[in-house]
Amino acid sequence: MEPYLRALADSKYASFWLDQDDRPETLSPLTGDECCRLLIVGGGFTGLWAALQAKERMPDLDIILIESTTIGDGASGRNGGMLSDALSHGDSNAEYHFPGEVDLIDKLGIRNLEELLGSLERYNIDARYDNVGHMTVAINEGQVVKLRQKYERKKAAGADNLWLNQNEVRKAVNSPMFLAGTWWRDSQGGTVDPARLCWGLKETILSLGVRIFEGTSLIDMAPHESGMKATCANGTITCDKILMGTNGFPNPIRRIRKTAIPVWDYQMVTEPLTPAQLESISWGTGRHYALSDASNMFHYFRMTQDKRITWGGGGSVCYFYGNRTDQGVADDRGRFEGLSRSFFKTFPQLEGLRFTHRWSGIIASTTRFCMVPGVDYDGRVSWAIGYTGLGVGASRFGARIGFELLGYQPSEILDMQFVRKKAINWPPEPIRWIGVTMSRHAMTKADANNGKRGLWLKILDKLNLGFAC
Ligand SMILES: Cc1cc2nc3c(=O)[nH]c(=O)nc-3n(C[C@H](O)[C@H](O)[C@H](O)COP(=O)(O)OP(=O)(O)OC[C@H]3O[C@@H](n4cnc5c(N)ncnc54)[C@H](O)[C@@H]3O)c2cc1C
Repeated sequence: MEPYLRALADSKYASFWLDQDDRPETLSPLTGDECCRLLIVGGGFTGLWAALQAKERMPDLDIILIESTTIGDGASGRNGGMLSDALSHGDSNAEYHFPGEVDLIDKLGIRNLEELLGSLERYNIDARYDNVGHMTVAINEGQVVKLRQKYERKKAAGADNLWLNQNEVRKAVNSPMFLAGTWWRDSQGGTVDPARLCWGLKETILSLGVRIFEGTSLIDMAPHESGMKATCANGTITCDKILMGTNGFPNPIRRIRKTAIPVWDYQMVTEPLTPAQLESISWGTGRHYALSDASNMFHYFRMTQDKRITWGGGGSVCYFYGNRTDQGVADDRGRFEGLSRSFFKTFPQLEGLRFTHRWSGIIASTTRFCMVPGVDYDGRVSWAIGYTGLGVGASRFGARIGFELLGYQPSEILDMQFVRKKAINWPPEPIRWIGVTMSRHAMTKADANNGKRGLWLKILDKLNLGFAC
């Protein structure tokens, strides 16, 4: 058996983060009929932050949160735990979609992260936050040139980033693939344990009086008197307003289904590295760093506090025809094998290391590469969906927008194009699948060709459209 296949042989299909002994007890599902003022649907970061911010701003607001499975079981308990202040996938994307708002978006992103970290401290949430910033590494000459340009642009604008040449980058994290790198060290960004963040938020909102029903899916909703009535499998909830934090999962609201599509991302984690293995890659002796390479179909990876490496992304990222979110595509062996192969290409010194967990999750992707908030039913239902792979920090901001869109203490943020401007819908099938698949292939080809973008990507660049995760 090839070493990269052997490395996967004993891995378990489960999110490493969610598979921890101190996972909290699952709460009972809804049985019967309930009422509340605000119903929050979805127990991921968006729903949890919405509940916390709602309680902070309006302590007497009666809130129920329902979650189909268990808190954190969606993307929020399955991600890389890379925490950043970015809300819009880069300044040029923001400038294109929200001209004139880049500085404000940047400022709001920084403040959002400050407040997020403040909440961790205030409520004693041990999310294992590590302020390591982020390192981007170049793995071909084309990437070196582009990364250097970006580094110089940001440096000139006052960023505290560091350029690492080949020797320096390999001293930090030793891979024969790395040709250069930039360490973005000025932000408050870094890494968290995403499941512990969800669990800490769960405990906090329970302590503030939010009622949570796990194992409870919203099936349908309809206006009811001056509010809404939500139908779940074993009961109903009558409420004034509903906030949807349901990511790319199937959604009863058509507008949400058109703006955000579910893109699957696959990830694995190794067993803890021995001191000799850590030394062979230099990593772990110094900073824990969160890294990604500068490819279109980039890999992202980090070290956990017990010295495992998580490894995800790359060519395994995929959209399945018809917005599939079923378990049939969740444990796709071929995708994990591809990830394992690329891991050992990056760190050949680690041959013999085993993966303990493999898992996948859904990223809601939008045509503008960042969240799309919205409101319907005459202001009684709102949502914040589609963080396009950047939701660990941005979901707190999305939750705030979702809350304010319901008319609760609205602020000037609601006047921003970021909130008001409609996103371009994804085209219907089969054009949707064909377009996304062509984009994925074109991006993979560009990566293999020193970053040289073909005709299809050039057309998408002109239109500021495309596929991102
Ligand atoms: C593999 C992977 C890696 C990622 N890595 C990073 C990263 O390193 N950094 C980063 O910033 N972002 C990352 N992301 C993205 C980030 O995880 C998400 O943007 C974020 O978690 C979204 O939070 P959410 O609450 O909106 O969605 P979710 O966490 O998916 O929560 C939505 C919840 O709604 C529930 N739900 C859906 N429909 C219903 C219904 N009808 N009734 C009741 N409940 C319902 C679901 O069960 C789910 O729990 C990654 C995502 C994935 C999948």
